[in-house]
Amino acid sequence: MLLYPRAKKGMFCLGNFSLYATKSELWKIIVGKLEENDMIGEKIPLKCNQHSKLTLVDKSEEILRLVHRGCSEKCGFQLPCGHTCVRNCHYDDLDHFLYECPLPCEKYIDDNRKCRRKCSERCKNVQKAKYYS
Ligand SMILES: [Zn+2]
Ligand SMILES: [Zn+2]
Ligand SMILES: [Zn+2]
Ligand SMILES: [Zn+2]
Repeated sequence: MLLYPRAKKGMFCLGNFSLYATKSELWKIIVGKLEENDMIGEKIPLKCNQHSKLTLVDKSEEILRLVHRGCSEKCGFQLPCGHTCVRNCHYDDLDHFLYECPLPCEKYIDDNRKCRRKCSERCKNVQKAKYYS
């Protein structure tokens, strides 16, 4: 496998280059140069759009998984509620419109009691609590 990063978007060539090198003088030179520059390897380094982590892939399933489900990093998206998304890297619901924050609600229903619901649930007791104080 050959990695050619000088092309604008990057170009990958797949093949058995050690075999080519034994069959052709030209390929022997090319492969030699690539090895010198560490541009030849068993796997393709792919980067997820949202995270800088490189994932090395050598199987088509791995490429598909990366495209559909993202990398192995946590999403880390800053939600309007102040929490960060706890899902693993994902490509669905990028705007987090459908995301329901599962972290505990940070609101207080009165001076001492914190809401026991999840962040995404409505705090039913807040209105009621007003009558107590
Ligand atoms: Zn990612
Ligand atoms: Zn939240
Ligand atoms: Zn997320
Ligand atoms: Zn609440």
